[in-house]
Amino acid sequence: MTVRSVLRYPDPRLREKAAPVIDFDGSVRSLVDDLFDTLYSTESAIGLCAPQVNDPRQILVMDLSKTRDEPQVFINPKVTARALWGFVEESCLSVPDTKVNVLRATAIRVQAQDPDGQPFETELERLYAVVLQHEMDHFAGKLLVDKMSFFRRFRFKRQHRAIA
Ligand code: ZN
Repeated sequence: MTVRSVLRYPDPRLREKAAPVIDFDGSVRSLVDDLFDTLYSTESAIGLCAPQVNDPRQILVMDLSKTRDEPQVFINPKVTARALWGFVEESCLSVPDTKVNVLRATAIRVQAQDPDGQPFETELERLYAVVLQHEMDHFAGKLLVDKMSFFRRFRFKRQHRAIA
C-alpha cells in the first residue's frame, strides 16, 4: 500500500506503449492497491493507470463515486462497441491544470480481466465510458495534449518546453 508519484508531461515515459498483463501474479494485486492509494490521495481524480506511475502494463483503476468506495479495475481492456459520441471535458493528473474537450463515445462495451485474470464483459456509459477510454489512451502513449486544437497545442508545448 503505497502512494506512488505520478509522471507528468512532458516526461517521455508517458509516451511508451503499455504491454498486456500475462502473469496475474502478486505484483498485479500490489500495483492495483498502489493505484487506488494514489488515486484516493488526490482531491478529485477519478481514474488512474499503471503507465502514469511508471509501470508499463495495461492496468487501470477508476472510482466515480462521491464516497470513494466503488473501486473498479480493468486489466487488458478492449472496447468492442462504441456509440453516442459527444464532446466531454477531461483533465489528467499527468497534465495538471489543463482541461480539454475530447470527442468520445459515451456508451461502450468492454472486455477486460480482473486482478485474478478472470475475463469479464460489461457496458459503460457517460463518464465511466469516458474515463476508461482516457486511461486506454495512456496505454497507447497518447495524452490530453494530443487532443488539443493545433494552435493551443503549439502554445502549450512551447510553454512546457520553456519550463521543462
Ligand atoms: Zn490521464
